[in-house]
Amino acid sequence: MTQNRYIDTRGLCESPVPFTEAVVNGLADGGGLYVPEHLPHFTLDEILELADLSYAERAARIYRAFDIDLPADSIQALMGEAYGENFDDEDICPITSLDANTHVLELWHGPTSAFKDMALQCLPRFFSASAEALREQGAIDHDFLILVATSGDTGKAALEGFKDQDGVRIGVMYPHGGVSDIQYKQMATQAGQNVHVWAVRGNFDDCQSAAKAVFGDAAFNDELMATRKIALSSANSINWGRLLPQVVYYVSSYAVLAGSGKIEPGEHIDVCVPTGNFGNILAAWYAKQIGTPIDMLLCASNENRVLADFINTGTYDISEREFVLTPSPSMDILVSSNLERQLFELAGRDGTAIRTWMEDLREKRSFRIDENTFSKLRADFSADSIDSAACFAAIKEVFEHHNYLLDPHTAVAYQAAQGLRGENPVLIASTAHWAKFGENVYRALNDIEPGGALPADIAALSGCELNDLIATETGLDYIPANLANLDETEIRFTDIIDSAPADVEQAVEEFLDQR
Ligand SMILES: *Cc1c(COP(=O)(O)O)cnc(C)c1O
Repeated sequence: MTQNRYIDTRGLCESPVPFTEAVVNGLADGGGLYVPEHLPHFTLDEILELADLSYAERAARIYRAFDIDLPADSIQALMGEAYGENFDDEDICPITSLDANTHVLELWHGPTSAFKDMALQCLPRFFSASAEALREQGAIDHDFLILVATSGDTGKAALEGFKDQDGVRIGVMYPHGGVSDIQYKQMATQAGQNVHVWAVRGNFDDCQSAAKAVFGDAAFNDELMATRKIALSSANSINWGRLLPQVVYYVSSYAVLAGSGKIEPGEHIDVCVPTGNFGNILAAWYAKQIGTPIDMLLCASNENRVLADFINTGTYDISEREFVLTPSPSMDILVSSNLERQLFELAGRDGTAIRTWMEDLREKRSFRIDENTFSKLRADFSADSIDSAACFAAIKEVFEHHNYLLDPHTAVAYQAAQGLRGENPVLIASTAHWAKFGENVYRALNDIEPGGALPADIAALSGCELNDLIATETGLDYIPANLANLDETEIRFTDIIDSAPADVEQAVEEFLDQR
């Protein structure tokens, strides 16, 4: 069936693995990330032809070109489920054009209203199918428990994606009192037979450390396997199965822009991405690599500007950086894990160089890439960082000039694009619906500074009530159903646990005891 295999970015794996194994393993042995041995290539005509297909068919065609080791008809069927009625727009990720040269790619029409749905409606289905295929081959004989620590958005998208998938259960930990009212209700009301949600006393770091400790507890993992035939897995954003669905929407968007006459066939576009873990913008780079006429990749950072500084200087340095909380929390990051894949590709797939840089990062909290890799980076990327005040100003300006509401993440990208763009049309990746971040959208529209207090009557509203107020005041009354009904949906999960690994492990056992 296939022959594309996956190598790892640190050159430590003995032999490459097929797609199915790369997906269930997540991380390669030795800590590297999986990368396909060969990239396919699409001609311009092959890309333009995609415009005539449904989104699910485009996705299946691109997956097949990557030669993944699942039968073509099951790829097609899984894509039909991943990108169907679960999205509230039949185009799946429609494009809204603010003017003739500024196009907003709306990646938030999925079940949780954040762009993570684009990957997390797809990966779990391929995860489940991959595990099944490996069981049939006799390569594994166990099920999986996906354990996720979340600061808000990822957990909900993972729950929606993995709910009721065969052979997999999912447990999500979030910081108790540390997520917004909307995010809390989205998770605590989660449906599905194979899901559990815990509020953890502590902050996001405590949740993440707890998850890492549980993954690293060999005795616990052995016992889960011996007594329950369950392996822990993480399905986080370094999984290749989360990256490939993101490549799809950049190729697809190009076909749609050309097909609708918004760009000339073959004309180059720039893509601007609000960047955190570097997954989304890396996917755009792969889309360019396989033939999409993309010129520059514009990397937008918020006040956590480590990536913008890296792209501008060639030095990645977190030795003296403070982690800043911003209105775009999904981009608040110091260590950007998917950057490793990008560097592997730009450095000529040199695993030794990657090992050295990652070691420097661990030991010295910084690394510097060589001149050749840096000049390749500069040929594909430019970058800027946008502070919270400028982000708020962009939300207000775009509303006033275009009658369109940006969420704070997309606003960072919009503003960065204003400074970085040249002559090419720009496609801006819009990563969340504004109603996920209603408080800050309200502040931006009402000239309240970032972090500033809301008037008492506004602060007293639930997240849904505040969104309704914003919708009324702006006249932009489309609020996705999953966000609109949260006050009426029954709360299902009320557990609050401590972050000590033993407490988390006990909670996991209790979840697995329920059938
Ligand atoms: C995760 C996320 C991002 C950052 O994406 P990366 O792939 O991690 O760079 C940006 N915006 C939103 C709303 C997100 O949820």
